[in-house]
Amino acid sequence: MTNALDLVPVTEWGFFTLPRPMIIAGPCSAESEEQLLQTAKGLDSLGIHVLRAGIWKPRTHPNCFEGVGVGGLKWLQTVKREVGMKVSTEVASAKHVYECLKYGIDMVWIGARTTANPFLVQEIADALRDTDIPVLVKNPVNPDLDLWIGALERLNQAGVRKLGVIHRGFSSSQKISYRNDPGWRIAIELRTRYPMLPFFADPSHMGGDRKFLLEISQRALDLGLDGLMIESHCDPSNALSDAKQQLKPEDLGLMLKKIIVRDNDNDSPAYKESIAQLRAQIDVIDDNLLSALASRMNISARIGSYKKEHNIAILQTGRWDRLLEEMVRKGKGFGLSEEFITTVFNAIHEESVKIQNDVISEQNDVISDGKGQPS
Ligand code: PEP
Ligand code: MN
Repeated sequence: MTNALDLVPVTEWGFFTLPRPMIIAGPCSAESEEQLLQTAKGLDSLGIHVLRAGIWKPRTHPNCFEGVGVGGLKWLQTVKREVGMKVSTEVASAKHVYECLKYGIDMVWIGARTTANPFLVQEIADALRDTDIPVLVKNPVNPDLDLWIGALERLNQAGVRKLGVIHRGFSSSQKISYRNDPGWRIAIELRTRYPMLPFFADPSHMGGDRKFLLEISQRALDLGLDGLMIESHCDPSNALSDAKQQLKPEDLGLMLKKIIVRDNDNDSPAYKESIAQLRAQIDVIDDNLLSALASRMNISARIGSYKKEHNIAILQTGRWDRLLEEMVRKGKGFGLSEEFITTVFNAIHEESVKIQNDVISEQNDVISDGKGQPS
């Protein structure tokens, strides 16, 4: 179910220089007043006027740097006063919200671990009641769109109307090259349901490495997202958290220049999809198809071992005929032609049989080498 959100358009927040992309940048963590000032000045000179800096850091393991705490809020005030930037930080409790309000922080965001916890989100929403401060909500660590939407609803019902989202990807149990699985499908779904919600991507936490920033940022903008939150530090290699994914303001400037910003029509109430966005959606689906095919073939290999172990023939034609018939029937339900389904699934089946054959002959080789025993 999608409840409408009562939103103040981002163009009325007075924060970002439009057109797209709107950029929020700054260090993962505030470490010292000098570090913040130096980074902020670098960013400001690039035309980036909204600073991010974590004051309270949610770390996976204890005894890591957990942020400088309330003391850092004064440094953010200094940046605001001396550089003239808007300043933002992460809040994870009502207490954090009260401290931010006390120090005149301009915007807060809710981190991925907090969005996953409705008790905390409600506590934060209650603390924000009767304030006017914009709030950005990161996706929850797990790929649960309803949990993400639920957090937006809690805040909106507490009167937060300057609301936006940040997509930072999802934890994954699979081995992937990025730190977090982009799971763009979920972002697209949210974008489609709430076209007016300002939508940022966080390529830093998604990629986990500065080398991925450009490709992720480009993908995010091709999908029609409005902006980017990127970690930038004046001395990344000595950063106290997320050193690998941060980059110097000047390198961020070079990276941003390489991004191609295509036209989109997000400002119109009826969000129109451009060809670039549709193509980007196809790219995402193709990536998913590839990984589904790889998982399927992996299982075929395991079946190959099992058949060998239990002395079962690879080909059981009766089973395949039934399966194909079932796929054709289901495919028709999705409007897919019999010819198409038959071609695709016969190709998949052929590859699967080949893989099972390979597994069995590999095992035979091992046995005849005398190097192994049948399992
Ligand atoms: C952060 O923005 O520094 C952070 C901790 O991010 P996330 O909540 O996405 O892990
Ligand atoms: Mn970080």
